Amino acid sequence: MRKIALTDLTEQTCKWPVGDPTQDDFYFCGCEVPENTPYCAYHAKLAYQPVSERRRAS
Ligand SMILES: [Zn+2]
Repeated sequence: MRKIALTDLTEQTCKWPVGDPTQDDFYFCGCEVPENTPYCAYHAKLAYQPVSERRRAS
């Protein structure tokens, strides 16, 4: 990961947020991605993975 800030996001960077947005160490992945793709291959997998962890929300 390249750890870029919100202001560094472009069409060609992975927009996967890492950490807590309220904290100073919050950043975006920033890996290069093909056009019209929001996440890099690694994070796209994470994003579309079914939630395996059971939660009490339901
Ligand atoms: Zn990424």
